[in-house]
Amino acid sequence: MSRLLVIGCGGVAQVAIQKCCQNSETFTELMIASRTESKCIELKEKIEKSGSPVKLSTATVNADSKEDLVKLINSYKPDVVLNVALPYQDLTIMDACLECKVDYIDTANYEPEDTEDPEWRAIYEKRCKEKGFTAYFDYSWQWAYEERFKEAGLTALLGTGFDPGVTSVFTAYAAKHYFDEIDTIDILDCNGGDHGYPFATNFNPEINLREVSANGSYMENGKWVETKPMEIKRVYNFEGVGEKDMYLLHHEEIEALGRNFPNVKRIRFFMTFGQSYLTHMKCLENVGMLSTAPINFEGHEIVPIQFLKALLPDPASLGPRTVGKTNIGCIFTGRKDGKERKIYIYNVCDHQECYKELGSQAISYTTGVPAMIGTALVAKGIWKKPGVFTTDQFDPDPYMDMLNQYGLPWVVDENPVLVD
Ligand code: NDP
Repeated sequence: MSRLLVIGCGGVAQVAIQKCCQNSETFTELMIASRTESKCIELKEKIEKSGSPVKLSTATVNADSKEDLVKLINSYKPDVVLNVALPYQDLTIMDACLECKVDYIDTANYEPEDTEDPEWRAIYEKRCKEKGFTAYFDYSWQWAYEERFKEAGLTALLGTGFDPGVTSVFTAYAAKHYFDEIDTIDILDCNGGDHGYPFATNFNPEINLREVSANGSYMENGKWVETKPMEIKRVYNFEGVGEKDMYLLHHEEIEALGRNFPNVKRIRFFMTFGQSYLTHMKCLENVGMLSTAPINFEGHEIVPIQFLKALLPDPASLGPRTVGKTNIGCIFTGRKDGKERKIYIYNVCDHQECYKELGSQAISYTTGVPAMIGTALVAKGIWKKPGVFTTDQFDPDPYMDMLNQYGLPWVVDENPVLVD
């Protein structure tokens, strides 16, 4: 019986909100608030037509402004806030939640919109030297809220999408039920979907292209090892998809898992990409279109990557045209009862099935469902404790049950092919 405020109404939010409405025992009232209220109203009308009993309302909000957020939260008085806007807004929304004494949930860790900002850059460069990885996003900004959330008796649950999110829950589940010691974790994210465009991204283009064009990295014996972008390539045969090229990327759950499972010797993350995607991305990068630094164009200030975003297909519009499946999961090696063991825990999701159910493609679906699950577990008090947490820090069992119940059934393969 809780009242939820969702911030953002893009591809992921639209799935998360519709899934919350399928879980009307937990979420009785829900406000959709975003920059463009017309999108919130359209979604509200669609859900109301489906006969959902959840009481919906909408609002416009500038989530870059703590004052705006505080005003909205104080007027709606939610029990919990789900942030499915952009990672740029994580800190302002966390600040507003602290001020209004509300639990906070998100799906992606903080990164700044302007990576040329000198104040941020100084901290970033120090962190690159100290930690040894150069990604623009890292957990330090949000982990710094630990004491404040603890003192306020509030929960912040970070990164409850698929990866991070479900992949971290898979790790907690493997550690609880399958291993005494985990030696290695390989997180594999395979999207075998085809949308028919020469180039498009499956979630927010700005965030996606920043992530993919950055240096790769993995953790070995507690230390980061950094690679050039796309330097490490492997080929893997994915159940439900087939053989795909995949590349080692830096990814945020490596940082959290490295901290929370310090005995794991190596943690890597691989994502599949087709050649056409990589060629387009390299070309755009080479001509400066992935830059986040504002430039002056005929008297107007524009940010190249934001201009590119305006040209690319909206990820939320890819649903009707995307066919094929995703396969995302984790391969673990280690020991149980003195014996060597390896398992692959994964989910296969079909783009067209997602579209039929909610009007979305599988990337939004596989992120939006876990966003709802994490929020429901916090709202019901099952995953509630004071402080700032990632999804690997709670009992994985109720989350794993809800994945099966809400459209992301998982499989444990006890004899997977390993990645060399
Ligand atoms: P979209 O760009 O589709 O949606 C973002 C939404 O946030 C839009 O509705 C946008 O409004 C709104 N928004 C942006 N800025 C503001 C602002 N200042 N104030 C209020 N609202 C704002 O992104 P996605 O749905 O693809 O992604 C959402 C989040 O999910 C991102 O943080 C992304 O990194 C994360 N993600 C996580 C994954 C995981 O597995 N953990 C995987 C995929 C995504 P408007 O409509 O006006 O543009």
